Amino acid sequence: MSDLLARLRAFEGRTIVPATWGPDPVNTPMIRHWVEAMGDTNPIYLDDDAARDTGREGAIAPAPMLQVWTMRTYADKMSGADPSDVWTELIETFDSAGFTSVVATDSDQEFFVELRPGERVSATEVVEGVSEEKQTGLGAGHFVTTLKTYRNGDGVVVGTQRWRTLRFRPTPKAASRPLRPRPALNADNAFWFEAAREHRLVIQRCARCGVLRHPTGPMCGQCRSTEWNTVDACGRGTVYTFVVNHHPKIDAFDYPLIVAVVELEEGTRLIANMTDVEPEHVFIGMPVELDWIDADPELTLPAFRPQRSREH
Ligand SMILES: [Zn+2]
Repeated sequence: MSDLLARLRAFEGRTIVPATWGPDPVNTPMIRHWVEAMGDTNPIYLDDDAARDTGREGAIAPAPMLQVWTMRTYADKMSGADPSDVWTELIETFDSAGFTSVVATDSDQEFFVELRPGERVSATEVVEGVSEEKQTGLGAGHFVTTLKTYRNGDGVVVGTQRWRTLRFRPTPKAASRPLRPRPALNADNAFWFEAAREHRLVIQRCARCGVLRHPTGPMCGQCRSTEWNTVDACGRGTVYTFVVNHHPKIDAFDYPLIVAVVELEEGTRLIANMTDVEPEHVFIGMPVELDWIDADPELTLPAFRPQRSREH
C-alpha cells in the first residue's frame, strides 16, 4: 500500500461532519416548493386530512427531502469554513497529492422514519472507505465513500445516505480544443450546410411561387409547394438583432461570442456569428458582409463582418 493510501485509509471511521442541526425545522413552505419542483402531487405531503386517511397523524415530508433539511445555508457555504478539522485534514491530504478536483458519483439513501413539519433534523457524516487509486475518464483519483446519518429531535435515526465522490487529479486539457457542436443534418437542411462547405451561402426558393425561405424546410409557407431550388445570396445584409454571449463558456467557442440575426439583402434572415468586430461596435442596422468560419474539416459556417465598402 502506498504511503498516501495508508494516510487516506487512516480517515476511515472518522467523523468529518459532527452532528449538526439543520437551520430550520421540517416545514410546509419548503415541502411545497419541493413537491411543485418535482411535480409530486401525492396529497399526503400538504394535506393533513389526506394524510390522516392513510393512518398518519398529519402531513409528512417527502422522504427524499431528507438531505434538504440539513443542507448548509448559502451564507455558511460561502464563508468557506470547513465543517470540521478532520474534513480540512482529509481535503489537504488529497490536495497535496494533486487530487484537487472532486465530482459526486453516486448517492444511496435509506429512509426509516417519516418526518413531520416542526421536527428538527441533524446529520453527521463519517468516512466509510477510500478506494485505491483508480484510472477514470476524468483522471486518476480515489473514490471516497461517506455515510451520513440523519436523526430527529429524539435522536432516532430517520435515514442514512451513502455518498460517494471521486477526488481526482484533473487531466491537463488537451491542446486540441473540442469541435463546434455539429448541426443536426437531415434531408431538409443538408444541402445548405453542403453549400456552406463550398463557401456558398444559398437561400432556398420555392420553385412554384418563387418565395425565398430560411430556415430551410420541405414546404413553401406561401403556396405549400414542395418543389424548390436555391439562389446564391449576394452576401450583404444588416444586423437585425444580436446578443453577446459571455456565459456559460463552451470550449469550442471564443468569448465574448456575438450571435446575430442577419437580414440578407434578399430578405431572409439567418443566425450567425460575427467576425472582425468587437461586441461594443455592433449595432442594430449595421451593414455587414459575408465571411466564413472554417471550423474544422467537416464544418464551415457563414459569419458576418462589418461591410468594408459599399462598392458592388
Ligand atoms: Zn411557393
